[in-house]
Amino acid sequence: MCVDCGASISFVRLQARPTSELCISCKEEAEREEHQSVGGRVSKSLGKTISLT
Ligand SMILES: [Zn+2]
Repeated sequence: MCVDCGASISFVRLQARPTSELCISCKEEAEREEHQSVGGRVSKSLGKTISLT
């Protein structure tokens, strides 16, 4: 279950990321906010590094 919206997370996603507590849409939302908080002008390569960690 997503800790944010309560939606069920797909089993495939949990297998890929066992630590994931957010559904895909909430995760994308969180990453978007993360990028914005960094300044919104992060280079593509740096943004990728952040989303992978
Ligand atoms: Zn969610």
